[in-house]
Amino acid sequence: MNIELLEQILKENNQPKFRLGQIIKAVYQDGVSSFLEISNLPKDLREILNKEIKILSFEAEKVLVSENKDSIKALLKLEDGNKIETVLISPKPGVWSACISCQVGCPMNCEFCATGSGGFKRNLTAEEISDQVLFWKTQTPPVLANAKTTSPLKGEVGRGLKISNIVYMGMGEPFLNWEEVRESLKILTDPKGMNFGSRSISVSTVGIPGGMEKLTRDFPQINLAISLHFADDKKREKFMPANKNLNLEKLKNELEKYFEKSNRKVFLEYILFSKINDSEKDMRDLIKYIKSFRKQHLLHVNLIKYNPVGNNQETRSNNQKITKTNKFISSSSEQAIKFRNYLLQNKINCTIRKSLGTDIQGACGQLAQH
Ligand code: SAH
Repeated sequence: MNIELLEQILKENNQPKFRLGQIIKAVYQDGVSSFLEISNLPKDLREILNKEIKILSFEAEKVLVSENKDSIKALLKLEDGNKIETVLISPKPGVWSACISCQVGCPMNCEFCATGSGGFKRNLTAEEISDQVLFWKTQTPPVLANAKTTSPLKGEVGRGLKISNIVYMGMGEPFLNWEEVRESLKILTDPKGMNFGSRSISVSTVGIPGGMEKLTRDFPQINLAISLHFADDKKREKFMPANKNLNLEKLKNELEKYFEKSNRKVFLEYILFSKINDSEKDMRDLIKYIKSFRKQHLLHVNLIKYNPVGNNQETRSNNQKITKTNKFISSSSEQAIKFRNYLLQNKINCTIRKSLGTDIQGACGQLAQH
């Protein structure tokens, strides 16, 4: 919601000062989906607002609900025609996490990720970023009411859907758009705004020089996740070009500084790619890397299943099913368990993360601009 425009409209209509707070509370906290629903405003003001300002800075073009109803993905059309995606995931009943984007596309070019393959278009504004959370809070009930589904979600997502967590793990690299990401975090954590606790928000990064320092400076309580995926520089650089600017040693130095300031747990994300980074040597490399940290107990490894993207998905042509082969294949569950156990035996905190929303292309790394 564009607060400046709202203030201007209220001023032009000679409204008392307290109106702004009333509207912000109704939208950000009560989750009304239209200004017409704000019953403590005079009727004519509700109508003026309804005509002159929109709650959201985009329109939902497509909304998909996964078969087992634990994730919903929305394709959002921004005012300039660019498109982004956002996902709402329920890792357990009654708990909802909003996964939001901070850029249109992504310049990082990680080879296994769908977001980068569409190229980078532009940074999102703080409003476009925070509005994605607002979208899930305010629009889920009407969206689901219209969806052709008998989803049990319908009952759960009454007005003001309760979102427990927010993760900056959609499209884009947060530390390459820090100004706007920071402003969006202010809106999300402002007690008068959406009032989320910092500890319920996580920012994920490939590692950008100086990035973590900005997080500790501006939001020391917000969780940090690192997309590590490889504990060997050669491999990491091959699949993640960002490693050229911040290699494993430099990443470690930045993390050590982060720990000194925040003393908070950091999540290392590790996608398991069959025969690429899941061998015993890879396990040993990862253990060695983690053990080289002074505060290794603050590192927690999340093992992630690789979600097929791009030409690794099944395609059909002339009614023939063609499965293009691609260098990335997910490791088997057995291998994932072996990997986890090896880490645990070496006293490294580690969990295998459940992957949600793959059937609607809404899982990690599958978000794109179409
Ligand atoms: N640019 C930031 C924020 C995006 S988070 C970052 O990379 O951390 C998206 C997460 O999904 C990252 O951890 C990314 O590495 C992971 N990811 C990308 N492609 C994936 C895929 N195909 N399967 C599983 N995870 C993937």
